[in-house]
Amino acid sequence: MKPTHIEHIGIAVRNLEESIAYYEQVLGLTCYAVEEVADQKVKTAFFMVGQTKIELLESTDPEGPIGKFIEKKGEGVHHLAFAVDNLEDALQETAEKGIQLIDKAPRKGAEGMHIAFLHPKSTFGVLTEFCEDKSKQ
Ligand code: ZN
Repeated sequence: MKPTHIEHIGIAVRNLEESIAYYEQVLGLTCYAVEEVADQKVKTAFFMVGQTKIELLESTDPEGPIGKFIEKKGEGVHHLAFAVDNLEDALQETAEKGIQLIDKAPRKGAEGMHIAFLHPKSTFGVLTEFCEDKSKQ
């Protein structure tokens, strides 16, 4: 398994609108999509930087994963997402190497991606996501 690139960097924010203003007005990026992912209890906003996206995550529920993360650690970098060609193979290979998976099978993320998370306990503290872009196949 070898990731093709960093698909996105997930950043937990308290207020999507205020943080979008920073990325647009200070960094000069353009928010090209806002999407709610009910499954993960988040509202997301996307920016493209070269081949890599910035994914801002605002919690829609204090009990959701982002709500809990912000309560514990505050705002900031939440996860790193690698693009892979075959998510099921990547998960199997990773599990065989003794890495703890949060998702044993792919699930649906934003933008029609299939995604799965690895446990940060197994990845030196970085919540790691694998993404497979099903729309490109
Ligand atoms: Zn993500």
